[in-house]
Amino acid sequence: MSKRVMNPAARITAVALAAAGLGATLVAGAGSAFAAEGKAAPAALTVSAAVAAQADAQAHVAAQVKAAVAKAAAVKATPVKAVKKATPAWVKPVTTYALSASFNQGGAMWAHKHSGQDFAVPVGTPVKAASAGTVVKAGPNGGGDGPAYGNAIVIKHANGTYSQYAHLSKIQVNIGQKVGAGQQIALSGNTGNSSGPHLHFEIRTTPNYGSAVNPMAFLRAHGVGV
Ligand SMILES: [Zn+2]
Repeated sequence: MSKRVMNPAARITAVALAAAGLGATLVAGAGSAFAAEGKAAPAALTVSAAVAAQADAQAHVAAQVKAAVAKAAAVKATPVKAVKKATPAWVKPVTTYALSASFNQGGAMWAHKHSGQDFAVPVGTPVKAASAGTVVKAGPNGGGDGPAYGNAIVIKHANGTYSQYAHLSKIQVNIGQKVGAGQQIALSGNTGNSSGPHLHFEIRTTPNYGSAVNPMAFLRAHGVGV
């Protein structure tokens, strides 16, 4: 059994040499004591090589998995374009216009700050429902909100938001009527307290005057480019 005892330092050298590809021939020259052990070196090399190969393979697989995960994440992050363009929830109330008086603007025209956004358009321009809903006000005297609005319409929307359209020349919907986003509801005009032909548009949190919020900020927050 003493034949198989080996100097630890010599064993390390043997394995190192074998691993370096120098082979058992050179290792055998170090003495007869580890000639027998020399046969063990390739085995150790085989095991270590196998372990190394396995580790390399695992690293390779790990790299492949990592790459696949990264690729999947990249695919997921890419926005998928809708094949068919659905009608957006909110649209512009008029197609072509020039922005005139803005929300909260002060001036002689209003007793308080301006409660909506004015879209300057010629009289008779089609006015569209900014979103789907039900008509809750439609008529002269601002539909009940006051003579300053002229002929006006208020639509109640699903999310508890209301839109208002004023100074109209012709109202084309009735109270209780359901309308779709972009559906024509009126023709623009210059009725009521109006400085010129335009559509006065409000977004409200109730059907009534005094609950208006910034309509441009609202539309933009809902993806409308105005
Ligand atoms: Zn206005």
